[in-house]
Amino acid sequence: MNLEPYIQDVLIVGAGLSGLKIARDLRAAGRRVLVLDKAHGVGGRAATRRWDDVPVDHGAQFFTVRSAAFRAQTNRWLAHGVCFRWTDGFHQWDEAHGLRPPDPESKDGTHPRYACRQGMSALGKDLAAVLPPDALRLAARVTGLQRATDARGRGYWLAEIEGAPADEPPPAAYAVVLTLPTPQTLALLEAAGLPDSLDPGELARLRAVEYAPTLAVLLRGPALKTAWQGIQLRDQALSWISADTDKREDGVPVEGGPQVFVLHGSPEFSREHQDGDLTAAADRLVARAGEIVGGWITQLPERQVHRWRYANVPRGVDRWAGLQLALDGEPPLYVAGDAFLGAKIEGAYLSGAEVAQAILSARV
Ligand SMILES: Cc1cc2nc3c(=O)[nH]c(=O)nc-3n(C[C@H](O)[C@H](O)[C@H](O)COP(=O)(O)OP(=O)(O)OC[C@H]3O[C@@H](n4cnc5c(N)ncnc54)[C@H](O)[C@@H]3O)c2cc1C
Repeated sequence: MNLEPYIQDVLIVGAGLSGLKIARDLRAAGRRVLVLDKAHGVGGRAATRRWDDVPVDHGAQFFTVRSAAFRAQTNRWLAHGVCFRWTDGFHQWDEAHGLRPPDPESKDGTHPRYACRQGMSALGKDLAAVLPPDALRLAARVTGLQRATDARGRGYWLAEIEGAPADEPPPAAYAVVLTLPTPQTLALLEAAGLPDSLDPGELARLRAVEYAPTLAVLLRGPALKTAWQGIQLRDQALSWISADTDKREDGVPVEGGPQVFVLHGSPEFSREHQDGDLTAAADRLVARAGEIVGGWITQLPERQVHRWRYANVPRGVDRWAGLQLALDGEPPLYVAGDAFLGAKIEGAYLSGAEVAQAILSARV
């Protein structure tokens, strides 16, 4: 099969915020891109599910802004109604002090937190909106990468997609960016047999990245409006409790009407229970929440649980100019995501911006 008509400039694995930022910037500069994601929607861990048509954030809950570049993007999102300023601080809880409102004297109590009325996946949907339909392929899990050479002797990548029909041309491009959580990037590099072709020092840096898991429990039922929007906890079991309904357009709950709450297990609790009985783990988190905010939360009748193996990055990579992996020859291979240039949504976005810039500078 002659693949040359199908070869794109850049293949981006992952339609999270880093991958979509890369795709958007490269498209704006006239490059042909193809984004592949195993999921059925965009946004990655900035994830929203619909519970009887009501959006609920089961991944990222909010975001903060520190850099000028992300401030500019956030201002565009604010202007277009994609996000809004949810709050300037959350309640805090620890065993010694109990529940405390945000402290207006502390930095934590006066730092804007942004969220989306339609759920956090609105950020990814907005970044993806400029991509033509053929630049984004969902439900496409990349299981391998191969190198090949075109008629002019230029190297390119071929991606293997799980379950793809044998007579379908595989996605191909002159450069690839992997934007998965780093352990998944490493697994893909292994599957492609690439580690021997990579720089051992860079591989060691990737392997040193640490991710923390999160067990998320969503609760729904009739409840009164709480005095808090979100609570950050220092606790063995729980790290977060929020009133998700508070973020929605019609968030003011009807007295005793249905509301949704989100609980997050602490990294230690989530690690210990991620491979066990998730229902039993959720029971324990709900019981603990009842001890902290009141027994009413244990009475909410409906429940969903989601396990994130790679939720947050307690230990990422400090600095890596251009985020290109040194490889024995062509074609170029880049990495991006929240393990680079600072964690969280802002870090993912900034790493995407940096990789796009590096690709454009390299004239790929
Ligand atoms: C429970 C939870 C709470 C969080 N809370 C916050 C918060 O409050 N504030 C904040 O700023 N950040 C928060 N985060 C972190 C934030 O969501 C991430 O830092 C950010 O979304 C990461 O973006 P990314 O592009 O680096 O990666 P991702 O969003 O993970 O994107 C990677 C994409 O790659 C896809 N993928 C993986 N493997 C393959 C494959 N083999 N083939 C094809 N596609 C593949 C995935 O489906 C995913 O869409 C939270 C995360 C979680 C899970």
